[in-house]
Amino acid sequence: MRKKIVAGNWKMNNDLAETQTLISDLKKSMPATDAEVKIAPTYTSLYPAYEALKENTIEVVAQNMHQAENGAYTGEISAAMLKSVGIKTVILGHSERRAYFGEDDALLAQKVDAAIKNNMDVIFCFGEELEDRKTDKHFNLVESQLKNALFHLDTNAWKHIVLAYEPVWAIGTGETASPEQAQEMHEFIRNTIAAKYSQSLADEVSILYGGSVKPNNAKEIFSKPDVDGGLIGGASLKAEDFVAIVKAI
Ligand code: 13P
Repeated sequence: MRKKIVAGNWKMNNDLAETQTLISDLKKSMPATDAEVKIAPTYTSLYPAYEALKENTIEVVAQNMHQAENGAYTGEISAAMLKSVGIKTVILGHSERRAYFGEDDALLAQKVDAAIKNNMDVIFCFGEELEDRKTDKHFNLVESQLKNALFHLDTNAWKHIVLAYEPVWAIGTGETASPEQAQEMHEFIRNTIAAKYSQSLADEVSILYGGSVKPNNAKEIFSKPDVDGGLIGGASLKAEDFVAIVKAI
């Protein structure tokens, strides 16, 4: 049985005090669940968040990391640094990293390798822009993102990978993919992995949906057979909303 996961990507929101308040609210209201629940605060809050949650089932994950082990890369953070503050999972390939910081599939392949070499898990994000969908290129685009960044991995490495399909046009826009559109793409992704590797490997990979998941649409999206959870942006910043989304899985 593959894992169900609800992860909150806080992006560049919440200073230290706000992080501590939100975590304390989450600790009070998080229900018991079979799903894995994760939050991704910003770098400066990672260690305090880890400390606040180390006795809790909520996992603290990072939003990004650099591909090198160490060195002259001003402003960057390595896998070893993340691990040294208790972080075992990193989000890579978010569309905001791709769009605003020039991260492409080749670079992301290196980041994925660095994470796996350090025995970290990866939540790998990818997804098409509106123009790709309008011109019916979305399946090709998603397939190429997977191939270019992940298909060099050997079978064993896939135990470290969680996928997050995030159509760019649905991120922060209030517009979500319909549950049918999400299912259609998730099924395509699973079939693409099965064709390259095996059906049994594909059946084990959790595929999350991200893009304007809210308390009022989460249940319907999560009810689809190939949707194994969500990567939540805006709605993860309010304990009440995030908890409602966790309850929907
Ligand atoms: P929103 O939920 O705010 O649309 O963000 C989704 C996202 O980018 C999660 O990584």
